[in-house]
Amino acid sequence: MKVTLQCCVCQTRTGLEVGPAQFSSLKESGAAFFHCATCGRGTYWAYPSTDRVPGLDRRVFHHDETASQPPPRVPEPPKSVDQRPPSRGPRRVALELPVRVRGLGLDVIEEITTTSNVSKTGLYFLSDKPYQVGQELRVAMNYSKSATGDLEQRAQVVRIVMVPGEVKKGIGVKYV
Ligand SMILES: [Zn+2]
Repeated sequence: MKVTLQCCVCQTRTGLEVGPAQFSSLKESGAAFFHCATCGRGTYWAYPSTDRVPGLDRRVFHHDETASQPPPRVPEPPKSVDQRPPSRGPRRVALELPVRVRGLGLDVIEEITTTSNVSKTGLYFLSDKPYQVGQELRVAMNYSKSATGDLEQRAQVVRIVMVPGEVKKGIGVKYV
């Protein structure tokens, strides 16, 4: 079946022929792996957060989101598992993607980490680095050391969330 999906890296939106394995990945995690012609490599694709098919409104999507279980995580204190920020704005997908984040400013930060959530307009990840609200970032989603020509996107820290029982803080980032 053909489904309109959006590349998590370059935001290209297109109709893709989805096989059974990719369809179940979409159902379970909200994203699936496809080759992206724009990025020139395999990337994760998720449902676009706007221009929904008539009949599929926010409530339906929200229900899907709460019903689906987050993917298995590496061992971590159980407390932190449910410390996701309240759902608001564009639909978020609980998705762990490799990402390289560079923080610009007086204290240059660079780290390779994994996202906790991604959406069309931004991402959320845990970090113990001294990010600050308003700080300008460069984000390379779906990062891999072997990939050439990473597509860095301009982004900004929009909120920093204390996570109880966790040294790391939640960093909310939006693309600019
Ligand atoms: Zn792409």
